[in-house]
Parts: sequence; C-alpha cells; structure tokens
Amino acid sequence: MVIAVSACLLGENCKYDGGNNLSEKVRAYCEGHEVIPICPEVMGGLPTPRIPAEIVNGIVINKEGRIVDREFRSGAEAAFRKITEAGAEACILQSRSPSCGVKEVYDGSFTGKKIPGMGVFVRMVKDAGIRLIDVEDLGEDV
Ligand code: SF4
Repeated sequence: MVIAVSACLLGENCKYDGGNNLSEKVRAYCEGHEVIPICPEVMGGLPTPRIPAEIVNGIVINKEGRIVDREFRSGAEAAFRKITEAGAEACILQSRSPSCGVKEVYDGSFTGKKIPGMGVFVRMVKDAGIRLIDVEDLGEDV
C-alpha cells in the first residue's frame, strides 16, 4: 500500500518550531509499505522555523496577525498532487495541525483551545477517497 505521512511524524524537522514529531508507532505501521512524506506548509514555501498559525474564521493567520492562507492552500494543493500522483490510499497525519489535523484544530485564539475541525490539507483531500488517519488513532482501527 502507498501511505502518505506527515513528514514531521517521520522525524523531519519541519515543525513550526524547527523540531519534529517522530513516531515509533508510525514507523512500525509503515514497515513494508511505500511511504510518501509530505509537509504541506513547507511545500507552500513557508520557512522552518515559522510563526505558528491557526485557522481564524476559515482563514489561516499566524500569531503575529499575518495572513498566510495563500501559502497554506498552495502547499496543500502541492501535497495533494504529490500523493494522488503516487497513488496513496491512506494518509497518516499529525493531530490538530492547521494543515494536517483530521478531527480537531485549534480554535484560532492561540490559547490552546481545540475545536472539531480539519486542517487545510485534510479539507482538500477528504473527498478524494483516500483514508485519513489521525496519528492518535493509529492502531485502533487500522
Ligand atoms: S504541516 Fe503537517 S507535516 Fe508539516 S509540520 Fe505541520 S503537521 Fe507536520
């Protein structure tokens, strides 16, 4: 199976703070499968490290108030193209990211409050018939 994975879960230092979310659970699950790493934010031309961003009334804005929606959307489009060209059947994605969040995102207040919702990349992929798995759920239903 071809599986697209948030690159930060594979140990790539592409998180907003320059770190990663390396997951042993993801590594073990992906063994024997073809893995396509994607980081929609980096693919959208954003630097690492970068100012954290949240979705505010449907628009992605960073903590300094700069609108970064265009970068998020073009990165999501590039990542979507990459995974569809590769024939990905599933995506394993980092929780609560404004790009990769599958079930929840932060509410736009930069206070750590979570709300039901999905990131910009996930919103783009959700109707494409590709299975979307929040890393926190990995192993429960897969
Ligand atoms: S955009 Fe996705 S892959 Fe990139 S750092 Fe954020 S959660 Fe990880």
